[in-house]
Amino acid sequence: MLANGASYSLAVLPGDGIGPEVVDAALKVLNAVEKREGFSTLISKGLIGGAAYDVFGEHLPQATIDICRGSSAILFGSVGGPLTEAAKPKWANCERNSILSLRKEFGFYANIRSLRVPPGLEHLSPLRQGLIPGGHSIMVIRELLGDIYFGEHNTTGVSPKRIASDIAEYREEEILRIARLGFELARGRRRSVVSVDKANVLDTSRLWRDVVTSVQREFPDVTVEHQLVDNCAMQLVRNPAQFDLLLCPNLFGDILSDIVSVLGGSLGLMPSASLNDQGFGLYEPAGGSAPDIAGKGIANPIGQILSLAMLLRYSWRMDGAANAIEMAVETALASGARTRDLCRSGEPSVSTEEFAEAVVQALEE
Ligand code: NAD
Repeated sequence: MLANGASYSLAVLPGDGIGPEVVDAALKVLNAVEKREGFSTLISKGLIGGAAYDVFGEHLPQATIDICRGSSAILFGSVGGPLTEAAKPKWANCERNSILSLRKEFGFYANIRSLRVPPGLEHLSPLRQGLIPGGHSIMVIRELLGDIYFGEHNTTGVSPKRIASDIAEYREEEILRIARLGFELARGRRRSVVSVDKANVLDTSRLWRDVVTSVQREFPDVTVEHQLVDNCAMQLVRNPAQFDLLLCPNLFGDILSDIVSVLGGSLGLMPSASLNDQGFGLYEPAGGSAPDIAGKGIANPIGQILSLAMLLRYSWRMDGAANAIEMAVETALASGARTRDLCRSGEPSVSTEEFAEAVVQALEE
């Protein structure tokens, strides 16, 4: 779809570490896409994480929330400092105070992560060669607002007799909306959903399985297979190519999506989207702020650039522009442009900025 003349408002929250570097790369790509598709974007930048703490003394200032409220989507970099400095006030609970608070603030109930192994880079996978072919894609849909993270947490007693408990809870409607989203997204893919649970033990999982089964009846063209989470974790490592779309409760999705994020060989490859009921979304790469490589200009911007593609697809309904970005990333890789994390020792690498320029060039051709 051409969006000739349309104008969109975008909140941009670069955050910490490599966040500002990879966000800059994505904004270069946005600029090229705007010209190509004929739309414009009004960008409002906001501080978040340690960068916000330096100015406001808090990780998620009201000014940043207001910027997000006034925008039609959020492009997020990453937050957090070096793990060795996690106790310092600037970094203590930084991730929880910023990204988790944003999730709550805007009711982001669905997290979508999508990995496509770039053709020609299959050898980077930590798995045995041939297990995950180039071009193979796995999408993980994770429910974000229910499950064990949001029930009551409690510790009683004194050592050595302490007892800790965390209540896992799912409401039927929470499962319904994530399952419907999963099946809808499956329609744009291989029409095959693997739903993950632990229905042999957990009541929340039995409800999950029951509701997912009922939703499948609304989508007779999509198949569903129910897998126990322990089996699914094993299958992801043994034979990942069998999966197209995984539908997961919050806790299992947290863990399994991290397994999927490394199947391509670098954490820098994977984009993600967090959506609410109104289709408002936050888009960010799956990795963190990578303080070990921050400021060196070597971070891989692909996850951030592909997050921008997801933003165009899910929030602004510009499928054509999203596809164009995804193809341009693959063209740039095929031309040999690779950041250091994608190179074997001795292979030449490009900087974050140079990779973005290669994507822009591919878009302009
Ligand atoms: P990390 O993802 O930042 O880094 C893990 C490893 O992957 C590092 O070696 C890093 O260099 C590499 N890496 C990550 N992204 C990369 C990229 N784009 N290009 C090249 N290499 C990349 O995880 P960590 O080291 O455990 O955490 C660092 C900080 O990030 C912590 O403060 C953590 O809380 C935070 N974090 C933030 C988010 C978020 O903002 N949503 C998510 C995860 C971790």
